[in-house]
Amino acid sequence: MPLFSLPRRMIEETFHVLRSCGDNRRECQLYWVSSWNDPLKLLEVVHPRHLSSAYALSIDSGWINEFWNDLADRGMGVRVQVHTHPSEAFHSATDDAYPLLPEAGFLSLVIPDFAMGPVGFDRAYLTEIQSDGSWQQVDIEARIQIDG
Ligand SMILES: [Zn+2]
Repeated sequence: MPLFSLPRRMIEETFHVLRSCGDNRRECQLYWVSSWNDPLKLLEVVHPRHLSSAYALSIDSGWINEFWNDLADRGMGVRVQVHTHPSEAFHSATDDAYPLLPEAGFLSLVIPDFAMGPVGFDRAYLTEIQSDGSWQQVDIEARIQIDG
């Protein structure tokens, strides 16, 4: 099982973005990206242009196209998508149906309470796309290590 390394500044930035964008009443989503040269070392938080409500979120398709081009130009890839839920963290049927990247090994992290709780993985939910395309919940500590 590959173990991703997440710099502490990235978990802090993640909560900052999720809280300021979501304002404790809207979902927010962002991505953790890394280089193809060293895929397990997460490097950047990317906050997409999106619309959202308390229970739904849609990413601007023009933004997505620019994002793919930018990642390709820089030799980077998205490893983890992160989004908030109003209370409990889990994967809804919509979450299952529309990952950013429908690819085995892609990880989706859900943060409860619009990320208003403590910075970290308390009550968070991590799930991974399997080789048959299904999702399976995985242990967060086994897959993501906060460094620094
Ligand atoms: Zn947002």
